[in-house]
Order: sequence, then structure tokens, then C-alpha cells
Amino acid sequence: MWMGIHGHDAIAERFAHTLRDGRLASTYLFVGPGGVGKRMFAHRLAECLLCTESPPNELVACRQCKSCLLMAADNHPDLLEVGLRKDKRTLILEQFVGDDEHRNREGLCHDISLKPYLGRHRVAVIDHADTFNNSTANALLKTLEEPPPRSVIILIGTSEARQLATIRSRSQIVRFAPLDVETVAQLLVENQLVADPQVAATVSELAEGSLDQAVAMADEALWQVHTQAVELLSQPVIDSVKLASMVHEFSNSAGKEAGPRRNALLQVLGLVARHYRRHLRADAASADAPRIIRRIDRCLDAEYQVDRNVHLQTVIQAWADDLARS
Ligand SMILES: [Zn+2]
Repeated sequence: MWMGIHGHDAIAERFAHTLRDGRLASTYLFVGPGGVGKRMFAHRLAECLLCTESPPNELVACRQCKSCLLMAADNHPDLLEVGLRKDKRTLILEQFVGDDEHRNREGLCHDISLKPYLGRHRVAVIDHADTFNNSTANALLKTLEEPPPRSVIILIGTSEARQLATIRSRSQIVRFAPLDVETVAQLLVENQLVADPQVAATVSELAEGSLDQAVAMADEALWQVHTQAVELLSQPVIDSVKLASMVHEFSNSAGKEAGPRRNALLQVLGLVARHYRRHLRADAASADAPRIIRRIDRCLDAEYQVDRNVHLQTVIQAWADDLARS
């Protein structure tokens, strides 16, 4: 385990080699499922790169120098971070080149070009790289093509396919695998995210290697609505009205705004799909397999519709009706 990070020793080893050989690239693109530790890895890597006391060609941080203390306090002037703003669904231009009034005098592209305050590097971590649109990506392109000296940019996304080709082609890609079930269960209990080890074991199996997902799924109300939904769906005659109203009520309980309601619905749909995928993994030859696959597909369709802002009640009712018929 490298610097408290579970499951990604091979990647740490690769970076250690890279540093030893003095071949550090200027742009890395971390891809892999959410909740496996990509952001944490990026931070630890930044900590090593910025530490002023450890040998520059070793992947270690002393955790005592001024730089390490600033990292620990989440307040390092040479670490720049950009991610999705609360009310936005994409990264926005202003985050990279400043707003109209401060164009090219603010934003990440400007800030990364400044000299390091404390020594070795300036490191930028750009989260939610999946949400780049063309104009924002273009604004970043020049920086990727002509990286300022001693700058390191780490982009974090989910799948490689979701990245714009212009960014992908200028980055070294680092692929993060899902965590294994035991690691997720252990992290849940160790970090006191889930009290009951039995619940931890079950959600870990469903979480498909993502700690974030496991934590989200362990939410009591979500767990309950999913259990009831699956129970209803296992009946010989399925009450789709009841199923829809239950799911609708759960989605509404997330608040008055559309965003949280959509997210709540996505959680239920995701959990039901996972429940069926787990079934399929356990018994792929089951006579029920074709129906299970249809149900998984139908959940994915509904997720897609939610993402496309289709009216939630319509999505839920059609989903419940189709599952009842399948
Ligand atoms: Zn240090």
C-alpha cells in the first residue's frame, strides 16, 4: 500500500520508476470508475512532487517540510484545483481563462504558468474531465501543447471514451481498476462509513469496486426503497403503480429541486441494475437470464432519460410498467 492508498500499488510503482528515470510527463489523464481513489492518488502524487525535502527523483513526501504541512492543511499555493461548480454540469471557460474582465489574467491556464512559490513544481488537478466541452477544452489546449516549465497537470475522468480526442491525445493515460470487494468492505468499516460489517459486505459486492458507490448505497432510505423495489419485482404479478409511486416518493424526498431528485432516482435505478447484475454473475446460465438482462437494459435506458432531463414522473412510470411486463 502506497501512502495509505489501497489497490493501486502498480500505478505507484510506475510513477516511482518514472521519477527515478527523470521522465515525468507534463500531463496525465487518470481514468477509471468513480470512487476508486483517483483523486486521492493525484493528491498524494502532488504531495511527493511538491515536497521540498525528499529527493526529487523519489516518490516520497517527508510530511514535515513547509510544503508537506501546507498540503496537509489543504492550502498549498502550488496545487491548483478545478472541478465541477455546484450549479454546473460542465467545466466552464472562466475556470481556465478567467471571466470576461480578467480574460487570460486569471484561471487555471494563467495560474499554472506562474513560477512555483515553494520550489519544484506547480501541479494542477482537473476533476470531472468527462464534462469538458469543446470550447473549454480548446482553451486548455495551448497549455497542454506548450506546458509551462515544471508544471504537471493531472486530469481525472471516468472512461477513456468520454474524453475529448484533443485532450486524450496530449495526455499520458493512467488506468485505475475497480477496487476488489474485500478492500471496499475493509475501507467502509475502517473509515467508519458503515457500522455493520454485514451491510458493508453486501454493499461492497454490489458496488462493483467503487467506495463512493458503496457509501451511497449504504444510505438507509435508499437501501430500503431498493429492497422493496426488488421484492415487488420478484412477485408473479407485479404492481407497477405501487412500484412507481414508491420510487417517485423516494425521488421527491431528496428536496424540491430537480438536481437532487434526479440524483436520488439515478441511485435507485443504479442499485436495481446492480442487484440484477449480481444475480447474473452468480448464475449466468439461469433460465431467467434473458429477462434479467432486459431489466438491466431498461434501468440503463431510464438512467439515460434522466440524464437527458426527461420529466421524472414519466421516466419512473414507463420504467415500472416495462419492468412489470418484462
Ligand atoms: Zn516534505
